Amino acid sequence: MAQQPSSCQYIPSDQQKLGLPLIHGANVSHVFHAKEQVTAVDRVEFGITAGKITAIIGESGSGKSTLLKLIYGLLEPDTGEIRYKGWLVPTRKDKLIPGHDAMKLVSQGFDDLNLYAKVWDNIASQLPNTNLERKVSKTQETLEKLKISHLAQQRVADLSGGEKQRVAIARALINEPEVLLMDEPFNQVDAAFRDALQQDIRHIVDETGLTIVLVSHDPTEVLAMSDELIVMKNAKILEQGTPEKLYYNPAHGYTAQLLAKSNILSPQQAASLGIQTESTIGIHQEDIRFEQNSQGTFILKDIRFRGFYKEVVFGNGSLTLHAILHPIVYLPIGQRFSVTVDRYSTFMS
Ligand code: ADP
Ligand code: MG
Repeated sequence: MAQQPSSCQYIPSDQQKLGLPLIHGANVSHVFHAKEQVTAVDRVEFGITAGKITAIIGESGSGKSTLLKLIYGLLEPDTGEIRYKGWLVPTRKDKLIPGHDAMKLVSQGFDDLNLYAKVWDNIASQLPNTNLERKVSKTQETLEKLKISHLAQQRVADLSGGEKQRVAIARALINEPEVLLMDEPFNQVDAAFRDALQQDIRHIVDETGLTIVLVSHDPTEVLAMSDELIVMKNAKILEQGTPEKLYYNPAHGYTAQLLAKSNILSPQQAASLGIQTESTIGIHQEDIRFEQNSQGTFILKDIRFRGFYKEVVFGNGSLTLHAILHPIVYLPIGQRFSVTVDRYSTFMS
């Protein structure tokens, strides 16, 4: 992509730092001064690679939306700095119209859409009238990319959540930003349509080299589409890595629970399974094998229907373990089972 000066240096005193990822944050904090002071982002360090999908995941209130707004320049860091292509991201004090010129933010709840206007007008209105032919062809092209050409003449208000989200993305992409930021983009999209939308976004990234940063409180919904995950908890970034790395080798129990609904065990609890450790450990549900056994130390407490598998819950008094039953066979609740662990992760915290 062309190096536009407008997407780089805004701040006259700034010097470009080389050798950084496309977007880089160093020691970034943000404090809200409401009734009480809230440190929403606390001295975080992160890198976002060009042409990839990075998902910021974490429970509600962990600081994800604040971090996204800091990246875009809607909020100003109280400590540290964020750089895009090595240049400081300008904030309200540097720039009249908030938001980095090379980026677009699709906010939560379709705030930017005009619900009573047609889909076509919502998207076309982002282009100037200086070249009407281009305006028409570019709008058409963008509608096709998001697979909403057939909706062009409908009012946005009459669309489903998934269709509205496609319009919001089309509107954000028509001016070809280098980075697309999305806050909980699948919240209002029915589960059945999520996969298709995620795949279409994936294709756009693969075809155009667009960089995407998205926020989600439900990691299972973004696991399949993301190249990189940033895990947030209580305003901190706990860890960053590929979905595979963080799924199989999480450094924190929080990550294991978030991504894998992992069983988290104290060293004492681990000892009752014959695992000697001084750290907290995590055992994924799929890594627990069990067998009905009159000498077993666990009792089958509960069986929960999960669709193609069932979740089984075992207890031995001091410890409850959740495991996966697949293929589904009959198991008697209340009977004794022996339990073996195939693998586990050891945590820093
Ligand atoms: P998330 O997106 O992960 O749910 P947020 O970034 O929205 O989290 O919020 C992080 C913390 O900052 C929360 O404790 C929230 O209540 C607080 N917060 C967010 N926005 C504001 C604001 N405008 N004023 C005061 N506190 C805020
Ligand atoms: Mg949020």
